[in-house]
Amino acid sequence: MPAVLQAQVADIADGYRSTLVLNIITLCVCIFILHVHDETTWASLAWFGSAIVVIAARAYAMQALTRRGALMSAPKGSLTILSLGALALGLIWAALPWTVANFEPLGRHAPLFLMMGGMAAGSVIKQIGYTPLALNYSIPILISLMINLIGIWRLNEVLVGLCLSLMIFVFIRRSIWAENMFVSSQVARHEATALADSLTRANSDILRQNSRLEALANRDTLTGLANRMFFHGRLAGDIARATVVKEQVALLIFDVERFQSINDTLGHSAGDALLREIAARLSFIVEDGSLIARLGGDEFAVVVSGPEALERARAHAAAVLEASRRPIHWHQRQAVVGLSVGLAAYPDHADDAEELLACADMALYDAKRGDRRQLREFDPDLRRNAERKRIIEQDLERAIDTGSLGAWFQPQVDLMSRRITGFEALVRWQHPQLGFVSPPEIVNAARTVHLSEQLTARIAGDACLLARRLPALGLKDVTVALNVSPREFALYSVASMLHRVTAAHDVDPSALEVEITEEAILDPALADEQLKQLEQAGYKLAVDDFGMGHSSLAYLIGLKVDRLKIDRSFVKDVARSETNQKLISAMVSLGQSLSLEIVVEGVETPEDAAILARLGCGTAQGYLFARPMPPSALDTWIAEHQPTADLKRKAKAKHLSVA
Ligand code: C2E
Ligand code: CA
Ligand code: CA
Repeated sequence: MPAVLQAQVADIADGYRSTLVLNIITLCVCIFILHVHDETTWASLAWFGSAIVVIAARAYAMQALTRRGALMSAPKGSLTILSLGALALGLIWAALPWTVANFEPLGRHAPLFLMMGGMAAGSVIKQIGYTPLALNYSIPILISLMINLIGIWRLNEVLVGLCLSLMIFVFIRRSIWAENMFVSSQVARHEATALADSLTRANSDILRQNSRLEALANRDTLTGLANRMFFHGRLAGDIARATVVKEQVALLIFDVERFQSINDTLGHSAGDALLREIAARLSFIVEDGSLIARLGGDEFAVVVSGPEALERARAHAAAVLEASRRPIHWHQRQAVVGLSVGLAAYPDHADDAEELLACADMALYDAKRGDRRQLREFDPDLRRNAERKRIIEQDLERAIDTGSLGAWFQPQVDLMSRRITGFEALVRWQHPQLGFVSPPEIVNAARTVHLSEQLTARIAGDACLLARRLPALGLKDVTVALNVSPREFALYSVASMLHRVTAAHDVDPSALEVEITEEAILDPALADEQLKQLEQAGYKLAVDDFGMGHSSLAYLIGLKVDRLKIDRSFVKDVARSETNQKLISAMVSLGQSLSLEIVVEGVETPEDAAILARLGCGTAQGYLFARPMPPSALDTWIAEHQPTADLKRKAKAKHLSVA
């Protein structure tokens, strides 16, 4: 294993210099002892010189190997070179006894003997990492001593020599054992390090995966903002903290206006880019550490905590709304995208996170109903309204089915003769708990819970019932009008539904009139086909609340509308408003030039009726003549009203005949 060889070389290199220095010192001591005993010879001097040369060579070799980095890159070769150096020095030490005359290891040369033996033993102890090196050095010395001892052939020397041979044997074994120990400890250390490394790697892998999973779980992948789950956790946490430190938590919810239609018309990638841009703007504006999250779709939230949370939330909302006036650029397009904002605060409006979210939602819902780009703060009325709305939505279907919801009828009369010309069906619902529920509330709830078709079918059914009764009540050619909100055209086929209902009641379509507001005409693509179908089927068509929108005249002509119903706001107090008189007069002229009948609604006083008659309005509807009434009240009203009109007509006829 290269790592073990490297450790062996490192073990040798460590303290190599001190080993050589020790050798030099010992050599010097030896030569000094010889000198003191006057035993210095040319041979011993040569011995000393060659020993110094070998030591210098070993020092140089070690330096060269270190410099080239060979110790680590080529540990095996380095070990060979160093072992050869050790062998050379060991041989030189072994030669020492032969440089003096009559070497007496246990006599006068005992110091030399001790020093040689000490050097040999020291080398084995020192170089435990790599046996060849220690043995190369020590074995020649020990063999030399053994030969010199036994060669004297005296009892003491022979015994010591034999002990020495035993020692050589022990040295070799011990040395090999020590190397094995060293190698196995190195292998174990290496394995432990490798294991620790792989554990560290595995651990950091796990940590990385963990943080990726955490990001996936907490982040919205499209915008990089916090997602709904993280938002819920944070909101609950902030509220818990605010409870302890007696602070507020404010919650803002933003909604992008008309996002669905942008998505539908420009495509999803444009929608995505738009959401990303909005997220970027939010992050740019809200930089006080408040949490910004995308709750899904086009809904974003900001949780503002800490001191003056409510004020800071208001400031954020104002800044975001201000920024939303600047056009957003994406995919080489640009558009101004309106935002609505709902705001609610804990503990002012709610007791917990869930309720706070519901409050902010209610505020947002209310904001969306108003002008674009507005902030709405929660107030308790909103909760009451929302609760009312919830009950209406919940009970609507049963009310339609059981008939507790149905049409009341308001008569329409000829302004000159006061003859009854028609009735308008208006939805009425007396809720057992809520009392009177207004028609717009009913119509909106029906749309929310997908009951628009059932609702209109119910009113149409009631209108048919009346239409069938009218001839018996002495009223012929009298139409019954029903309201169809323009948005219904997008939900189902009004013509097919009416066909079903009229067929079931055996009523001719010409007995019914469909009132639609100008709104429908604003979206021709939506209404075009359906209005044509209605007209072809024979229903009369009326444009309701005329004057409030921006009807396309060309479209009105193309549609063959029968009547224009001038909006109540022009009719109210018309006797006192010259402007309204002028406006109505203009609308009447328009109607005449398009051959459309004009109906005025909301006529409350005789003065107004007189002016309207003078301005050329033909038909009128209003409290002056009758309030909307239940079908059961109609018979009496018709009986009371009709005779007068008939009498008047008879009187008029009589007057003419007399004349
Ligand atoms: P609209 O079609 O303009 O209906 C006329 C509204 O004016 C009715 O209110 C009627 O009660 C009221 N009105 C009649 N004469 C007078 C008057 O002299 N003075 C005043 N101040 N008001 C008068 P209502 O019944 O509350 O209906 C409100 C609106 O709800 C209707 O306006 C219509 O747009 C819608 N609506 C009513 N019933 C239905 C329905 O069955 N389906 C649909 N889609 N919408 C309906
Ligand atoms: Ca109407
Ligand atoms: Ca109207």
